[in-house]
Amino acid sequence: MNEHGKYRELEEVLVAQATSDGDGVQLKRVFGGTDLARFDPFLMLDEFGSDKAKDYIGGFPSHPHRGFETVTYMLDGQMEHRDHMGNVGILGPGDVQWMKAGSGVIHSEMPKQKEGKMHGFQLWVNLPAAEKMGPATYNGIEANTIPSYQLDGVAIKSIAGELKVNGTQVSGAVTGLSTDPGYLDMSFSSDQQLAVDVPDGHTALVYVYTGSAVIGDSDYQLTEGRIARLSREGRLHLSASRDTKLLLLTGKPIGEPIAHRGPFVMNTMEEIHQAIRDYNEGTLV
Ligand code: MN
Repeated sequence: MNEHGKYRELEEVLVAQATSDGDGVQLKRVFGGTDLARFDPFLMLDEFGSDKAKDYIGGFPSHPHRGFETVTYMLDGQMEHRDHMGNVGILGPGDVQWMKAGSGVIHSEMPKQKEGKMHGFQLWVNLPAAEKMGPATYNGIEANTIPSYQLDGVAIKSIAGELKVNGTQVSGAVTGLSTDPGYLDMSFSSDQQLAVDVPDGHTALVYVYTGSAVIGDSDYQLTEGRIARLSREGRLHLSASRDTKLLLLTGKPIGEPIAHRGPFVMNTMEEIHQAIRDYNEGTLV
């Protein structure tokens, strides 16, 4: 304990693993796949990034989703999204697409460039049972509409949530969701310490994609390509060195059983089998 109350502690560190998905897209899976309750409400984070076209040119051709939300955040490059509802959108640097698959989406996510750098993230956010079979929605958020803040040498893009950082209220482009996700991209232009008020009980994850950071009063250097999962009580303290870039993810756990198979995330395996049948029979959407 200290004068500010309890700090969140480092519970676990995971190293992003190289893998491929879609049509041969090389990416880093930061977390996801097994034992998902500890990340609740988050299900997966991928970082895709390469300056070699062969690593991304295959893209993610037509595929379904049911039962959760996909959040794509581009740093570099151009990606085109098309879905069964007729939405077509180009995501460029800084743009975000927040898609609620609900009962079903069939979409493609394809590079809109033949060369050059492609870099970004895809986060999966779970939905509670009451929303899993709701209508699909698509929210294309342009870079210049994402609130940005300059706090004590740290540039913050607030994609989602309402969080207080060093005493300043930071409001995201997306708010009002039942899992109350917070999604901040932070760039450090000098060595800095930050204190973030995260509601007690909410999950907090810190992913360093450039540089290094330290959580609370631990002596562990969270270096590039590592994600920290923090304890669920108290204020989040982190310090990072100049030129560090990191994502902070926070959210309210749903607390329901998670059944996951490929692009479907439901509560039970019976619901997963139903989703597979619906897709195969053409009735997912
Ligand atoms: Mn997808």
